[in-house]
Amino acid sequence: MLDLAIIGGGPAGLTAGLYSTRGGLENVVMFEKGMPGGQITQSSEIENYPGIPGEVTGMELMESWPAQCMKFGLKHEMKEVTRVSLNDDKTFKVSLAGGEEVKAKSVIVCTGSTPKRAGFEGEDEFFGKGVSTCATCDGFFYKDKEVAVLGGGDTALEEALYLSKICSKVYLIHRRDSFRASPAIVKRVMESDNIELVLNSSIKKVYGNAMGVEGVLMVDKEGNERDLKVPGIFIFVGMNVNNSVLKQSDGSYLCDVNDWGEVIVDLSMKTSIPGLFAAGDIRIEAPKQVVCAAGDGATAAIKAISYVDSLGE
Ligand code: FAD
Ligand code: NAP
Repeated sequence: MLDLAIIGGGPAGLTAGLYSTRGGLENVVMFEKGMPGGQITQSSEIENYPGIPGEVTGMELMESWPAQCMKFGLKHEMKEVTRVSLNDDKTFKVSLAGGEEVKAKSVIVCTGSTPKRAGFEGEDEFFGKGVSTCATCDGFFYKDKEVAVLGGGDTALEEALYLSKICSKVYLIHRRDSFRASPAIVKRVMESDNIELVLNSSIKKVYGNAMGVEGVLMVDKEGNERDLKVPGIFIFVGMNVNNSVLKQSDGSYLCDVNDWGEVIVDLSMKTSIPGLFAAGDIRIEAPKQVVCAAGDGATAAIKAISYVDSLGE
């Protein structure tokens, strides 16, 4: 039986592996369905990870993590987890694609989140070259330039406000004339000097060249087109939390989640089930940053060590 199963090998999972094995747990496996590194490996530039000055790609940032995190005995199995469930003896059953099952005393779920795509022409082609889903990550690249934001929820409006402090102007494009974001944030957006609302409009396509995005072609409900010459477009049309491993056969979740499917944890990354922890983008109120995910992984691992010790076996 494993002391600890870690699901996901992004910044949270890798750091959980480092801290749990260096902290004394001996039988720890990180199940990562692909190469370790996580979603940040899709980023063309990261400049807000402390200790790494200058511009590096996400791939370069994560290159050295697996070797360091596996130095103390963490094992990586390149396998997809399909479900985590409870055994009668309160240990965990980790079910793998292909039918294999593994028993573990404790589990840290670090499966991250996936920003939704809006589905317009050019979105995939220019993703990471002007099309972004992270204002904290990429906003600074457009300092004193004009950018566009797509979406009408809390995330889009909050991020539009964030960008309005960095960029010269923000065009907020929304497909309806009212927002689903909370009234308080809508009011702040309305009061902003450099956010222009482009309502009842959707994006027809994003265009550019080998260097990146050059503009956004929009169309309103009457069919009128408008061409915005902006080098950056931020898409905030919702997030998919990768929580499917927690779904049980009856459709319920193994532990408490909020209305958006984010795992409810306390400051120790403990879920509502003893021995089950969640870290990184999958948890409630996650700032969705590499440094935060790594911190969560360390916290969860330290608490998992105490939990396994408390079992006294
Ligand atoms: P993830 O990085 O999402 O890792 C989860 C891992 O779990 C993945 O490797 C996935 O393959 C694996 N997994 C999922 N389900 C399963 C399963 N069922 N079985 C096995 N494995 C599974 N943050 C910053 O701090 N600065 C930036 O500049 C920045 N730029 C970004 C740019 C882009 C384009 C994107 C997409 C994100 C960016 N972020 C940035 C956010 C940052 O990448 C995330 O906050 C961070 O990676 C979250 O780490 P995590 O470990 O929680 O999850
Ligand atoms: P969201 O509430 O689902 O909003 C997504 C927005 O994107 C909606 O305005 C939607 O338009 C639009 N949209 C969806 N698909 C689109 C497409 N293909 N093309 C164009 N527009 C599209 O997502 P979110 O803003 O990420 O928020 C998720 C949850 O987290 C919400 O419940 C939110 O309240 C919560 N949240 C809370 C806070 C906070 O409390 N401070 C902050 C962030 C998020 P329609 O409105 O027309 O559907």
